[in-house]
Amino acid sequence: MKEAETDRTDGAVGDRYRPAALSENDREKLVKQYAEQAKKEERATVRLLDQALEAVVSDLGDESLANLIDVAWIPASRLDEVDPPWGGQSRSREQGSWAGIAYLGGRRSLLIEVPASYLESYREQLPFLLAQSIQDAVIEEVREARPACPLHGHPLNPVATPSGSFWECPQGAATWSCAIGSYHQALSN
Ligand SMILES: [Zn+2]
Repeated sequence: MKEAETDRTDGAVGDRYRPAALSENDREKLVKQYAEQAKKEERATVRLLDQALEAVVSDLGDESLANLIDVAWIPASRLDEVDPPWGGQSRSREQGSWAGIAYLGGRRSLLIEVPASYLESYREQLPFLLAQSIQDAVIEEVREARPACPLHGHPLNPVATPSGSFWECPQGAATWSCAIGSYHQALSN
């Protein structure tokens, strides 16, 4: 089912060194353009990332926060163009890794780095990785524990196990846990 991985070293415009002279507006346009392109050309990967994100976001949010977070997924090889690293140093990028540029309440607020191994061998742990990247920013934005432990009210910890991704009470899985993506359902059981 996996689409062929294409090695996009076409050597044309995209990979040429660009001086960091782009305005923020231009960079935002590039983010959009690359994300659209990725959606078309690497549909399976972007879908995988979006599904994992949806599981995490549905647990972090409630109805009032339907549009809380928006993420543009791009191959990490494009990252230096749209998010120039401090000091002008190029970051080393593992082939096949991805980056999510996340907007909270419409503002670009964080970068989610997804190593290739999560897309190749650890897909069940992908929600954990995303939860770990996003949770603190969401808590800061809404100023309350998300998702809240039903027993104690503190935020649950994202945890990865060989069988998947879970939210756990900081006191341990035996105290309270549920699969990431099933929080609201677990509460009503
Ligand atoms: Zn707890």
